[in-house]
Amino acid sequence: TRARVVIVGGGFGGATAARFVKTFLPEASVTLIEANPVYTACPFSNLVIGGEREITGQQFSYEALAAAGVSVVHDRAIAVNAARRTVTGQSDAVWSYDKLILSPGIDLRWDAIEGYGEDAAAIFPHAWKAGEQTLLLRRQLKAMPDGGLVVMSVPPAPFRCPPGPYERASLIAQYLKNQKPKSKLLILDAQDQFSKQPLFEEAWAELYPGVVERRGAQDFGRVVSVDPAARTLATEFESVTADVANVIPPQKAGAIAGIAEVSDATGWCPVDPVTFASTLQPDIHIIGDAIIAAPMPKSAFAANLQAKLCAFQVSRLLAGLAPRPATLTNTCYSFTSSDTAISITGVYRSGEGAFVSVDGSGGTTPLGAERYVRENEAMQAQTWFRTITRQAFG
Ligand code: FAD
Repeated sequence: TRARVVIVGGGFGGATAARFVKTFLPEASVTLIEANPVYTACPFSNLVIGGEREITGQQFSYEALAAAGVSVVHDRAIAVNAARRTVTGQSDAVWSYDKLILSPGIDLRWDAIEGYGEDAAAIFPHAWKAGEQTLLLRRQLKAMPDGGLVVMSVPPAPFRCPPGPYERASLIAQYLKNQKPKSKLLILDAQDQFSKQPLFEEAWAELYPGVVERRGAQDFGRVVSVDPAARTLATEFESVTADVANVIPPQKAGAIAGIAEVSDATGWCPVDPVTFASTLQPDIHIIGDAIIAAPMPKSAFAANLQAKLCAFQVSRLLAGLAPRPATLTNTCYSFTSSDTAISITGVYRSGEGAFVSVDGSGGTTPLGAERYVRENEAMQAQTWFRTITRQAFG
């Protein structure tokens, strides 16, 4: 009989997984359940916030996946029955599977910062899921008078895209410097150290002197409560009044992970690092931001690679073959201005029940590099974006 593979979530992980399961198992029935008819990508969305890119460059349809033989359904999965191997949609439709792959991305923890519930995000946008929130933050920056204070709140790790807040800070700083030079950006950070820190700090000092100020956890940077009506954000030490505030709250795996009982007390999903099978429900595989893969970051690069490996292992398992361990990599580019970028690379292998960094591998681009090195990285970032979005969405 025809194998049935159902995939929930058509982002970087799920869309790639659907394409590659169909490639490895052309005879299988592959169904992709995705809530939205158009996907809006987060990578490069900080350029939209900085006024350097249109949101349309972030948007992708599912037509090419459908043309490749994937049955694309726009519905929201609201239940999973692991014993019967079925998924139920909001429309009441039910899909049976032999293997289920979840790539639901993240949900925001609306209970983590006092005063920051869903309503608050209409005033203090998170812009950590791209789309309306990205445009809202962009509009607020545009409307802000010169001399205003922009405040950004960064959560403790783990969260989606570890360098993402600092790339955003760079591109907001560029906009302020060019368009509103009397304005400042204050980063209130629950972390002490952050991804590519020396490189970001070098870029801020060189490109935007006096614009960016940051307080880390040791300097009481963690935001504990907000009052959007009063436009304030409070740490344990002080309360600041913001003209524009970008609150990136703590996160957890997308809701369907909790419903399917594949997330643990951390809110994230433990998986076998070779097959991406849930350690809690063996016929459910999970990839992307939702899984516990540290030291691998939660990135589109990682989600895409995990998707290809997961598709490979699922097709072997369905054919009765043993899974095969593989080496994994990740590269995250971050723009420090609209035409300069920096990057970090890691190499990982599957150890005993966990992902492990390969000794002596990976690293970042060098400090103190000449401008052409950074411009070259920005061009590589553009190529990476075109490649990964083509692989996922066609
Ligand atoms: P997502 O891409 O979020 O996809 C999840 C999908 O599942 C969504 O389309 C959602 O609608 C759908 N879904 C969820 N639940 C259901 C359900 N129950 N039923 C149906 N559909 C459902 N990564 C990089 O590699 N490089 C970068 O430069 C980079 N920059 C970033 C910048 C910013 C500002 C941010 C916020 C992130 C950035 N990232 C970057 C990270 C990247 O966006 C994520 O790591 C990536 O999107 C993860 O893919 P995913 O498939 O796990 O989740």
